[in-house]
Amino acid sequence: MGTREQRRHGRRRQRRRNYTPLLVLLLVVIAACALLLNSCGKDEGSAQVDAGAGNVTDSGGGETEQNGGEENQESDASTPPEEQDPMEGYTVKTMTEEDMQVGLQILVSNEHTYSFPEAAESQLVNLVENKSNSYSSSLNTTLILPVTVEHLNDMLDDYLAQGGATDIMVVSGYRTYEYQQGLFDRNAAKNGIENAKRFVAQAGGSEHHTGYAVDLYSNNNGDYFEGVGEYKWVTDHCHEYGFILRYTEEKEPVTKIGPESWHFRYVGVPHSYIIVDNDFCLEEYIDYLRQFPFDGEHLTYTVGDQEYEIYYVEGLEVPVPESGNYTVSGNNVDGFIVTIEK
Ligand SMILES: [Zn+2]
Repeated sequence: MGTREQRRHGRRRQRRRNYTPLLVLLLVVIAACALLLNSCGKDEGSAQVDAGAGNVTDSGGGETEQNGGEENQESDASTPPEEQDPMEGYTVKTMTEEDMQVGLQILVSNEHTYSFPEAAESQLVNLVENKSNSYSSSLNTTLILPVTVEHLNDMLDDYLAQGGATDIMVVSGYRTYEYQQGLFDRNAAKNGIENAKRFVAQAGGSEHHTGYAVDLYSNNNGDYFEGVGEYKWVTDHCHEYGFILRYTEEKEPVTKIGPESWHFRYVGVPHSYIIVDNDFCLEEYIDYLRQFPFDGEHLTYTVGDQEYEIYYVEGLEVPVPESGNYTVSGNNVDGFIVTIEK
């Protein structure tokens, strides 16, 4: 039965073939003509698509189709589109080894020593003449950089305004190399060299050489500022004013300096925020920024309405934006930190 059925089918096909060769030939010819005509117009297009796809990095099949859609935009360019120039919008600033010691984010420690540039000494101002009335100064001769005292004023004014104590006193600002040497020697003579090494930076290794550090004191307690009780506000909010608490107990293994609840260092916003957010000490932060080189992903951070973009550059050739607001700071180790206001 099956065979008869098959035979019948076969026969039918045979019979049809016998009647249709001309028709099939005609159809084939028509189809061929249509294809030829069509491909004449298309060939140019598909060649462009390929050229485009080849130049847009390693785009996959999906992207090739997209390029096909964009072929009209590219059709006027006889040369294939180029990859985006990473230097577009940037220019290179050639810095010096001395520049690496300049800026708000410099790391200063016994390992990465520092000397205040002589040429910049005229920038130092007298704290007493520039401070607000929210705090006092132990000396009439304390020198400091204007940027530090300006933000110290803001911080301690706000501290007082929210009900803070009135007895905060600045007992140290900028120090010369010789002064630090004397401080270290006196401490070593009194408490032993090991104690001095733990609590007093060696000459050249003190942040006080930078003009960005202050030591606070509490007159009411007759002791260094401890950041507890009503004073805790300052410790908790200092990063909002660009300051960090530089030496904590937790980070002593990294900083190699014992905890100093009174020593505040100005690094600027947004760096102070990022440091606090990540529970970094300055050493860790400087290392962390190496993850954001110019030719890699940049670090972005927003404070209030202001967005910042930050990247690190090793060496002296520093790409900076051609326009807009930005700062370049040496890290006092091996490179520079660029901070762009977006
Ligand atoms: Zn200090």
